[in-house]
Amino acid sequence: MNYLQLHQDYKEQSLFGRYITLVHIEPLLAKYATEVVGQSVLGKPIYKIQLGVGKIKIFMWSQMHGNESTTTKALFDFLNLLHSDTDLSKKLLNEFTFCMLPMLNPDGAEAYTRENINGIDLNRDAQNLSQPESVVLRKIFEEFKPNYCYNLHDQRTIFGAGDSGNPATVSFLAPAYNENRDVNEIRTKAMSVIVAMNKTLQQFIPNQVGRFDDSFNLNCVGDTFQYLKVPTVLFEAGHYLNDYQREDTRKYIFMALISGIQYLHENVIVSNEIDDYLKIPQNKVVFYDFVYKNVKINYDGKEKIINFAAQFKEVLNKDKVEFEARIAQIEDLENYYGHTIIDAKGETYHDDINNFPKVELKADFCLGKDIKIVNGKVI
Ligand SMILES: [Zn+2]
Repeated sequence: MNYLQLHQDYKEQSLFGRYITLVHIEPLLAKYATEVVGQSVLGKPIYKIQLGVGKIKIFMWSQMHGNESTTTKALFDFLNLLHSDTDLSKKLLNEFTFCMLPMLNPDGAEAYTRENINGIDLNRDAQNLSQPESVVLRKIFEEFKPNYCYNLHDQRTIFGAGDSGNPATVSFLAPAYNENRDVNEIRTKAMSVIVAMNKTLQQFIPNQVGRFDDSFNLNCVGDTFQYLKVPTVLFEAGHYLNDYQREDTRKYIFMALISGIQYLHENVIVSNEIDDYLKIPQNKVVFYDFVYKNVKINYDGKEKIINFAAQFKEVLNKDKVEFEARIAQIEDLENYYGHTIIDAKGETYHDDINNFPKVELKADFCLGKDIKIVNGKVI
């Protein structure tokens, strides 16, 4: 299968970048069998799209965290493929029934926050069901009775794939269903899908796939659904080199969706799936967006060579997400990587405020006479 070509053919061109809200997806819904299945705290519709007549039922929901839109883009790319009336789409719609909530947290999406408008993390509300969005998710889960669940998210740029020095562009998890993190048949099924997806992704992003931490927390939706005996896969769309809009990562999520579904369709018997799953390196917090090395500072009359790091903050400004680089860490960077690394080669730090970097300051400064840094980058 030519995954790159497929994505090119079916990419939903009207969706781009990080800020994806109901305004962006509503015009696309008319093509599909769409139903309003509930309302957010602010009364916005929560849509469900259902397609296919097959016996394997897959339930997918995206943007449960409002500012995590990459998987929503990939879902609409995937929907275009399903809607294409090709041999592939016919085969998939015959074999599967897909039920999707493309934007579970529309209020958070609009405000560009992880939480819903009440400040509740919906992915910690699986037991309390204190929010209307959580109730909708559980209701559809119970009505649809899926064979598999896909819990679709984004992760921050701080994660690396193990000790590879590469960003975790995509991460997966087959959540635990008990404190012991035992592996039963249900969890093995989720692991097998992940192994299949990882196999495909390794061809395109070698050593850039991570395995998320499996600490058990029944308040998380994935842990609860796995506990309720439905194999559940957590997807985390992460950073790809220079891709802050997550347009490359979107493509890899699309590929993962197809290859996981292809695997379920072909029903390939995989041996060693648990081993292969465990071989995927664990996600580690090892990245900053910028690392500045060998910077000379004058502190208390003494000269010193230091390293420091800056990290983007995502700020919503008039319907656009802006990336604001701020100094995040000074020294103690031995075990960290930078998505961008700038070597000052001993040049001296200076800015308009202090003559040394300070955590939380905007990353606007000079290194010697020649290197000017604005919003983290050399200009
Ligand atoms: Zn999330």
